[in-house]
Amino acid sequence: MAMLADPGPAHAADHPRCTTGPIGGMLGVPATPCPTFPPAPPQPPMLQKRLVPPALSTSSRRAVVRAVGAAGLLLLGNWRLASGAGEAATEANLPQVAPVPGGIARLSLGPSQERPRAWAGEVPLLVLGDPIEWSALVGIPLSATPGEARIVVQIEGQAPRELAYTVNPKSYAEQRLKVAPKTVDLSPEDLARFERERDHQAQVIAAFSEPLPPSLRMRVPTPGRRSSSFGLRRVFNGQSRNPHSGMDIAAPTGTPVVAPLAGRVIDTGDYFFNGQTVWLDHGGGLLSMVCHLSAIDVTTGDVLDAGQRLGAVGATGRVTGPHLHWGVMLNRTMVDPALLLAE
Ligand SMILES: [Zn+2]
Repeated sequence: MAMLADPGPAHAADHPRCTTGPIGGMLGVPATPCPTFPPAPPQPPMLQKRLVPPALSTSSRRAVVRAVGAAGLLLLGNWRLASGAGEAATEANLPQVAPVPGGIARLSLGPSQERPRAWAGEVPLLVLGDPIEWSALVGIPLSATPGEARIVVQIEGQAPRELAYTVNPKSYAEQRLKVAPKTVDLSPEDLARFERERDHQAQVIAAFSEPLPPSLRMRVPTPGRRSSSFGLRRVFNGQSRNPHSGMDIAAPTGTPVVAPLAGRVIDTGDYFFNGQTVWLDHGGGLLSMVCHLSAIDVTTGDVLDAGQRLGAVGATGRVTGPHLHWGVMLNRTMVDPALLLAE
């Protein structure tokens, strides 16, 4: 029986939720991804220090349009038709911007005929837009330190350069619990299983596929009361664990769970902490995961439309009751799913 030393946020005491891994910070559910991952993504080129010009204002966009002229715009139009691009950068299709730990930054890369490439460290970033203005969307880790951060940008035919941006501070609620030690210590067998599953997950989340998603706005994968516990910092018996990295939605076992956005199933399994889990690849490093399912109706390789059923709510894995844990990942970083909700 857990003894509540500090009730924490109002939702936390009565909302069914995920529990977490052993004390120590490196473990947690769903685990914050490790800083390094086995499969090497496309590598960023050698960096030559040069800052990208500031974001294009509306007036500078107009200047670009004037400079390109009517003939150029005709070419741009043809380019859009040929590439299928140009539909993905409207405000209605993009996530809410929140340059905070656990949030998403949108960084203008300016104009270029070809889609620029961009990286955070060695992790490729989702770049959307059109030749008049491209934007990089950057998922910011919950563990990020507020202050200046940088990405690397490469425009075709130019030297790679750095683009700096500011991560603003955000304080998330903290929940302090005192529990019996045996409820937080894993047996050697369970620990070995968890470590195998963590390594497997690191492979899964390295997915970066095309086509890029035409819209990043998602629907909730199941109806129900949503907790606002993304980012909740949990301290068990005085020791910190990974913060909660998704959204918990309370719903009875058996409630249908649907794809929040069109995507391909890249992993299904029954995991120690997450229980029965489905991972979806939406393209461009945008992934989503749903956990604790009572049923999984899809298999790896299935391609789902937004809203298509993939399973049902349950209480598998380490949970306090039936609910859906929904995680959204961008550039291998868990971000707040609320930023991507369409409504
Ligand atoms: Zn959860």
